[in-house]
Amino acid sequence: MSEAISGPGAPGNPAVAGPHDPEHDPRASYALEPELVARLTDRVLATTGTTTQVNSPIDGAPLANIPQSSVEDVAEAFRRARVAQAAWARVPLEERAQILHRLHDIVLDRQDEIIDLIQLESGKARKHAFDEPIHIALTARYYARTAHRHLASERRPGVIPVLTRVEVNRVPKGVVGIISPWNYPFTMALCDGLPALLAGNAVVAKPDAQTMLSALLGARLLEEAGFPRDLWQVVAGPGREIGTPMIERADYICFTGSTATGKLIAKQAAERLIGCSLELGGKNPILVLRDADVERAAEGAVRACFSNAGQLCVSTERMFVADQVYDRFVERFVARTKAMTLGATLSWEADMGTLISADQLETVQAHVDDAVARGARVLAGGHARPDLAPYFFEPTILEGVTPEMTCFGNETFGPVISLYRFHDEADAIARANDGEYGLNAAIYTRDGERGRVIARQIKCGTVNVNEAFGATFASIDAPMGGMRESGMGRRQGSEGIHRYTETQSVATQRLMRLAPTLGMSEETYAKAMTMSLRLMDKLGRA
Ligand code: NAD
Repeated sequence: MSEAISGPGAPGNPAVAGPHDPEHDPRASYALEPELVARLTDRVLATTGTTTQVNSPIDGAPLANIPQSSVEDVAEAFRRARVAQAAWARVPLEERAQILHRLHDIVLDRQDEIIDLIQLESGKARKHAFDEPIHIALTARYYARTAHRHLASERRPGVIPVLTRVEVNRVPKGVVGIISPWNYPFTMALCDGLPALLAGNAVVAKPDAQTMLSALLGARLLEEAGFPRDLWQVVAGPGREIGTPMIERADYICFTGSTATGKLIAKQAAERLIGCSLELGGKNPILVLRDADVERAAEGAVRACFSNAGQLCVSTERMFVADQVYDRFVERFVARTKAMTLGATLSWEADMGTLISADQLETVQAHVDDAVARGARVLAGGHARPDLAPYFFEPTILEGVTPEMTCFGNETFGPVISLYRFHDEADAIARANDGEYGLNAAIYTRDGERGRVIARQIKCGTVNVNEAFGATFASIDAPMGGMRESGMGRRQGSEGIHRYTETQSVATQRLMRLAPTLGMSEETYAKAMTMSLRLMDKLGRA
């Protein structure tokens, strides 16, 4: 249990999973110490004197007041970040990597404190909050260990062998703007910034207003690891108001959020001819093939659909199940779903926590009500659970969903899955590829090779075989991101760090210049060049 958060709901104390019980899980137990709030909010660059209240979805009660930034504050954040970046870019890569590696250790050591805060702000189950420090540790370790590989200058063949020496350098973009969502408030606020820092950039971050505290804890931990304070600026406020001034000043924008906002950001970035990466929404499918291990698929489906109450960009909302295993699979999946422990609590017991806000609850309820009104059948869940927490909604399995229902093609971003039976694999693949999204998919089959062949036909940026989403998401060397309306650009891997660099080609010409020499005419030079081009082609040169 962290020092900052006290009371019986915290880990190490009696479990409070299940119906909210004020006797064992009183509001007072979730209070944050004022000193902790002050230490965190001190990292926001804000001079307006106004604040916005953040409430905990666990009980709806106030958690903290967050200072709000003005457009001038955003400008100041960029000014400070630019000064810090100029010095940081001169710090040797080895030293930058060591600092990042320290973050790995800090995050693992301080995971209880991090997880407590994530849970208080988001209401997610502890096991799902645990994924966040782990993802940051994996990302920090990966980039710290591979930075030299991604960022080293490379020799390339020059136009005239031996005489033209070419090297390609990776230079930092400058100051990167990072706009992040609320659903994974710690890792989404931090993970994209780590490679940006390592590549020699500074960051101005604007986390979502609902989850500033987790993001601010991240900023403090960066500082504790040894990153200069001014290198990571944090501004706070409504995305519409301070997002635009960020894009007006940034050298690159990294955005994670909805497809609708992503399109606005892309237009503004295009106006300034700056690059952007967009990690957006999805309507992710799972295919359960006829040879699938049904029990394994049912277990995976629970995690795929209900992790973080479905508020996960890569979680599954559509499931296509082969006729031959449909009944067995549904029986196991429904049984596992009904056996889940629900609870808005800091203990490890809950299998699923609450939705984050009234808006989320309204959307989820509307999707389920619409489906039911138009004839969908509810196999599990289907109801809000205000007895557990103000915005709680049960894990819900629907059957008989048809194209006119809202949840057929629109992202619910909640714990609601639609089941579809298929007879023909080609038809299942076509249905999985239906729609505009293309973020993540999963395939369950006993034949891994067949799974990989089918994966190539799925129009998604990541495909997991015999796992829900974690296999791709946690394999940091592999790029992650969306096709079609699920995004542009990739996080993770070399792609995830190269986006924050410009390539610079430096060519040094020795002895012979690239022009006629020693009184040679232009015509003779042209003929000599033509001959040498033919010769090089014969020699197989690229
Ligand atoms: P959102 O687009 O409303 O908000 C995301 C962020 O953008 C917030 O920080 C918000 O303040 C900011 N923002 C909002 N309007 C803005 C504007 N006009 N200019 C600049 N910034 C603006 O998204 P949301 O609904 O809060 O988040 C959920 C969505 O995010 C879902 O669609 C989910 O699939 C997606 N998501 C995608 C990934 C991924 O990696 N692909 C990860 C997490 C969430």
